[in-house]
Amino acid sequence: MKIEASSNIRELVAALPIAQDVLSAFGLKCSGCGVNKYETLEAGAKAHGLRVEPIVAALTQARHAGRVPAIMNEDKRPHVGAPGAFAKRGNIASVVAVMSGKGGVGKSLVTGLLAVGLRRANKRVGILDADITGPSVPRLFGLRQPLGMEKDPAAAPDAQSRPLFVPATTRAAIEVVSSNLLTPEEETAMIWRGPIVSGVIRQFFEQTLWSDLDVLLIDLPPGTSDAPLTVLQSLSIDGVVLVTMPQALATMIVRKAANLVHQMKKPILGVVENMSYFVAPDTGARYDLFGPSYADRVAELAKAPVLARMPIDPALAALADAGRIEEVDAPVVDHLTSALLAALAAQPKRRETISII
Ligand code: ADP
Repeated sequence: MKIEASSNIRELVAALPIAQDVLSAFGLKCSGCGVNKYETLEAGAKAHGLRVEPIVAALTQARHAGRVPAIMNEDKRPHVGAPGAFAKRGNIASVVAVMSGKGGVGKSLVTGLLAVGLRRANKRVGILDADITGPSVPRLFGLRQPLGMEKDPAAAPDAQSRPLFVPATTRAAIEVVSSNLLTPEEETAMIWRGPIVSGVIRQFFEQTLWSDLDVLLIDLPPGTSDAPLTVLQSLSIDGVVLVTMPQALATMIVRKAANLVHQMKKPILGVVENMSYFVAPDTGARYDLFGPSYADRVAELAKAPVLARMPIDPALAALADAGRIEEVDAPVVDHLTSALLAALAAQPKRRETISII
């Protein structure tokens, strides 16, 4: 097999096991996690903010020598950020908030899957976890290391400036900021009142060294209380994805959420009906466990398309619980992602991308 920028990572590792060690030496942790079976060396390098040439050279050398060559520091990923983060503040092309009328409908899981799908579509993506009710987002990706803090690279050297958050990065280079990465113990419950919650979320939005992202997803607190609404109002958001379940009650709750979003003059990009149905693995029979789908009705209320109907999938839940959401390989993820990208593309373009701060 030829080793070149366009080589497929998964095939390369299968044909040349030492490639995994070489890629790890560059900090490309995604080589073994299966984030994308189609990913090339070039795409992997780009996602991590690295040059592909030294990686191809090191792989070729490893194939001949049978061991991992020494790698120059500047070719490795010494840092959690990507190029944009160092030279200037990141530019974020689209900010999408994921909202639900109530808790437990799978909003965080949908946020995580959207991030994985976008990453597979070769987008640079970040998640701002604003749902302080639980450690869901970091847990989905198996993230534990606390957030770093760094001096503002854009500030004058002698200026007294506030340090900025450095996002945690997942194996596939998705950037994550979460209040659950501030406390050393995942189990430590956070008791934060409304105004503090919105303050922290705003700080995460504005005072983080995000890279140049194509999409920043915001996992909003559940429901239509103060916290999600303040976030919607105070941050520059391009659109909202509403997550719902097939229940008559959910429909009423979503109607309220949709009205509030409309009142704030934010576009609803689409509706995701989660836990829509279940397909028995042995017989292939489809069951509407929670009753008939209300997705079309909800979409009508929201004046937005149905982006996807997601089945109840125990395998998906198991991967999510194990912190391995990046290994989910269900077709619904790509389907959901293309529907979101189409909805974003259909929005009138903002005049410019957001420069954080
Ligand atoms: P929310 O963010 O709306 O409170 P979560 O995303 O935390 O909800 O999901 C609640 C629980 O339901 C999690 O344990 C999650 O793994 C599980 N879950 C969500 N959607 C599905 C699904 N489609 N299939 C199986 N389990 C799911």
